[in-house]
Amino acid sequence: MALSLGRFELHAIRDGTFALDGGAMFGVIPKALWSQKNRADEQNRIPLALRCLLIADDERRILVDTGIGSEWSDKRRGYYAIEHAEGQLDKELARAGFDRCDITDVVLTHLHFDHAGGITRKEDARGILSFPNATHHVQRRQWKWAHTPSEKDAGSFRTQDFGLLEQSGRLHLLDGQTELYPGVELVVSEGHTVGLQLVRVTGDGQSLFFCGDIIPTSSHLRSAWAMAYDLYPLTVIEEKRMILAQAVEEGWILFFEHDPQIAACTVKEEGGQIAVDRVVNF
Ligand SMILES: [Zn+2]
Repeated sequence: MALSLGRFELHAIRDGTFALDGGAMFGVIPKALWSQKNRADEQNRIPLALRCLLIADDERRILVDTGIGSEWSDKRRGYYAIEHAEGQLDKELARAGFDRCDITDVVLTHLHFDHAGGITRKEDARGILSFPNATHHVQRRQWKWAHTPSEKDAGSFRTQDFGLLEQSGRLHLLDGQTELYPGVELVVSEGHTVGLQLVRVTGDGQSLFFCGDIIPTSSHLRSAWAMAYDLYPLTVIEEKRMILAQAVEEGWILFFEHDPQIAACTVKEEGGQIAVDRVVNF
């Protein structure tokens, strides 16, 4: 089922699920609170979606993030509880009426493995670009950072995927906020990682905001509920505050990349915090 926004048709593209430590997902929030809505398994991991967004109009098919991909060892699959069927992304694209070759643009919010893991895949034991006709948009500062990350976040990047993209000539590095196409705006954020970009799609006066790792699940709508992975937590809190104030004011639909249940929702202010107003599943 697609969501129509003016001339755009939006599709949630599910690349499977994985799981991360609940403590790391909620930073300073005690387990007694976060576990009420996010049940942890015996290894303290909580289930997370890998939900990409496809933005289609008559001219373009823009995929926001590429999921976790399929090139994972059994050990790592077990470690992150990766549930990703072979051909999962192809099936999801087919459901929307497209295939990999139809994708004209890939917007990578950032290069953490659960967002950029799908940029390459293996064919006859050879690595190839998953979306061969797409221009891949990345913020230049994120591209540089991902090649020489800090000790804190080095484990979040798989640099072996980056060389192929660079050599393909299909990498487009961006410097700051921009309107990629009319109605598709890239918003830069610095709290989670350096040079993260989020996407706002606007059609017929309605906006949908791709929250990426600033608000990965609906539980993260609360101001202090932020991930321990964030490089600059106070910046995340401030960026969230600004995004959510505008979302309430203008009735945005917020799209969650990692929420295991809710694809998207509108939000309202309730007792000084932001809460889900209307769930929009598509
Ligand atoms: Zn991330």
